[in-house]
Amino acid sequence: MRKYEAKETLLTDYGKNPDPRWYAATVAFRMLRWNKEAPLEWKESIRTLLKELPETARNADEVADEFSLPSPLVMSVMEEQDSVSVSMLQQYNECPFRFFTQYLLNTKERLVADDMPNLQGTMLHRLLELSVSDLVSRLEAARDRQERQAIAQQWEARLSLDFMRPFYQKATEDARLLLYGFPDFAGGVGERLMTRASDTLAMLARFDLQNDYLPRWLEWYFPHSSLEPYLLEAKGHPFTCRGLIDRADESPGGVVRLIDYKRSPKDFSWLDLFDGTDLQMPLYKRAFETAYPDRSVETLLYAGWKTEHRYNLAAYGIGGFDRKFEAIKSLERQNKMWEEGAADHAANFAEHKAQETLEAILSGDFAAKPVIRGTSSNPCKYCPWHSACGFDHRLPRSRPLADGRAEKEMARKNILDFDQGDVGDSQGSSSI
Ligand code: SF4
Repeated sequence: MRKYEAKETLLTDYGKNPDPRWYAATVAFRMLRWNKEAPLEWKESIRTLLKELPETARNADEVADEFSLPSPLVMSVMEEQDSVSVSMLQQYNECPFRFFTQYLLNTKERLVADDMPNLQGTMLHRLLELSVSDLVSRLEAARDRQERQAIAQQWEARLSLDFMRPFYQKATEDARLLLYGFPDFAGGVGERLMTRASDTLAMLARFDLQNDYLPRWLEWYFPHSSLEPYLLEAKGHPFTCRGLIDRADESPGGVVRLIDYKRSPKDFSWLDLFDGTDLQMPLYKRAFETAYPDRSVETLLYAGWKTEHRYNLAAYGIGGFDRKFEAIKSLERQNKMWEEGAADHAANFAEHKAQETLEAILSGDFAAKPVIRGTSSNPCKYCPWHSACGFDHRLPRSRPLADGRAEKEMARKNILDFDQGDVGDSQGSSSI
């Protein structure tokens, strides 16, 4: 036992099964109340407690199932915020209760210095930002389009692990990423992240062999102090929308494409946009066009695809393009999706959905209602609030919604047919 004395009790659980302790309160109350041998005072106190605080003996899942707050209270909290982020709107649509714990209560998991998926993601983004900044500064010296294309081609030909190393070193100067500078991490996960960064850039270059698009804006944060902010309105109150666009490329004709780097495979999903759990890219388009009204964003790309298994040493080589065919297929699939003005329809729908989400937040509904779609998207999977909401995979709320071909097609059709006046179309994600 001594060995465990210094350890902490973790109340969160990422596992699939409920923890019996989450149901312990009801049992404990019952046992104390009906225990014939317990002192009378105990029984009396339990009786008073249950009368005055009936919530105390309820299971967490029952409380979370119908949890809500008075609308004026939520409004007063939300009004204090300078802006609302796209990720917080998505979070509400993934699960209102999780939104409540994370954004309204502002609870956080304690940071632990360890190799974690979110830190790997930060590292990958930093590597891509630093390396593409290098290209952007070289492009500034070019006199015309031809010279810019030649510079981009020479730069892309240098992409390799060695090329990435100085950027990796620089990235580890960030206090949060210091750990990745240690040999144990740099030699393993570090090499893998450098390979991933280099491959991502090589794939984007190969996808656009003519270099029609060249990177222009990196880590573009909005609202921008000198540019028009993008506003979302709910209950008569304007909220400034905020977010961070990883990269925006511009074509010679002034057309823009937005790129979001991903650590794991991701394609755009009509169903996720319909559910409001992936509003990011279409809302970024709106924000960018509000800031630059003379530019049009026509393509939205997620740069994240399936790679070789990490234990296959051959996958550490740079530029094995045939093996990485999935990357090109993913980019081509997404590119095709945005033909014929589809991005404008998606942005219209996303804007409406975002405003609808804000209205729902302000109304105070924070019930635990996770949107679980098939087996691919499940917000409960990595949620740290299992014990707070009484997570149980057997509860009705844990049943997945269908994500078959018919549902996907219906979502796509609803979004493409949507116009701003057509309020009914986007309501009730569970209707698909
Ligand atoms: S575990 Fe699932 S239901 Fe519970 S708060 Fe998290 S996302 Fe919501």
